Amino acid sequence: MTNPVQFIDLKAQYQHLKKKIDARIATVLEHGHYIMGPEVQELEQQLADYVGVRHAITCANGTDALTLAMMVLDIQEGDAVFCPTFTFFATAETIAFANATPMFVDSNEDTFNICPIDLEKRIKQTVDEGKLTPKAIVAVDLFGLCADYPEIERIAKKYNLKLIEDAAQGFGGSINGKKAGSFGDIATTSFFPAKPLGCYGDGGAIFTNNDEYAELIKSYRVHGKGKDKYDNVRIGMNSRLDTIQAAVLLEKLVVFPQELIDRNKAAEKYTRQLSGTYKTPLVPEGYVSSWAQYTVLAKDRDSEMEKYKAQGIPTMVYYGTCMHQQTAFKALGYKQGDFPVAEFLADKVFSLPMHGYLG
Ligand SMILES: *Cc1c(COP(=O)(O)O)cnc(C)c1O
Repeated sequence: MTNPVQFIDLKAQYQHLKKKIDARIATVLEHGHYIMGPEVQELEQQLADYVGVRHAITCANGTDALTLAMMVLDIQEGDAVFCPTFTFFATAETIAFANATPMFVDSNEDTFNICPIDLEKRIKQTVDEGKLTPKAIVAVDLFGLCADYPEIERIAKKYNLKLIEDAAQGFGGSINGKKAGSFGDIATTSFFPAKPLGCYGDGGAIFTNNDEYAELIKSYRVHGKGKDKYDNVRIGMNSRLDTIQAAVLLEKLVVFPQELIDRNKAAEKYTRQLSGTYKTPLVPEGYVSSWAQYTVLAKDRDSEMEKYKAQGIPTMVYYGTCMHQQTAFKALGYKQGDFPVAEFLADKVFSLPMHGYLG
């Protein structure tokens, strides 16, 4: 047997980039600016250029990026914030952490992303009930595919809601050339190692074209700083990206466009080979996915995963539990059957190995 297949092969990527990454890290160790060193500013400029926005502001992780977005948009108790129920916990967690109420929305069966029809239905219901103030939408670029922003932006405008793009999995994707991270009022991403663009620890970033938001985020991420970090003009947090992680990301960003091409080739191959056996993921016309995951729908997921396991191929379930089924959100009072598509997906999907080094 040759090298075993890895679900996400971070070691192969490191071997490929070792010399350059090691040199970048060594530079940081020598100049000694471990916090907010020059690599952080350099990365922020490159991220903004790549995504095509005025401001990219790095922070400690993708969850903090969402929390910082909630702070800037002044999301608070009594606010309703709409998000998909089929997502990673942090999307909904940060809404609750801001003391607002997460309002879950069902998914589209073909793209796995938030369903705009169900979104509008639930916004209307909330308006009619008149208990909570509809404030914002958090759309997620699940598994690397941008959500349906043309439609979601229309809905946000119609109901005067702020829009946050959770691009933790979406970085690198696009709709008609417009990149993930450039949709909505504020977008966030994560550099967790397994994400499409990952560092060697935790990391995150926030993207916006709004100068005022950008200034606020820079203050909130360093203890609500004014002129400097000992002049504190608001309550903030400590959420900076380490200089060493910025150094790693600068090198990874250089090869990222090629990795994206390779990931897309791997996904096309999967689709060719598997579309007779499973329901394979749909990429709508004009969309490019960054393939954070290659996720299929199977009638009997468990037996399929067993077959792969017997061949030494690792598979994973993202996600087996929707947000409305999580213990932490029990108090919201949702029940089985409230989100039929998302529940169906949670029962049937599994993900195959995906990275730019599948060979
Ligand atoms: C990973 C992820 C996050 C959180 O990112 P961290 O860097 O792990 O905090 C948020 N939203 C989604 C959809 C994610 O996949």
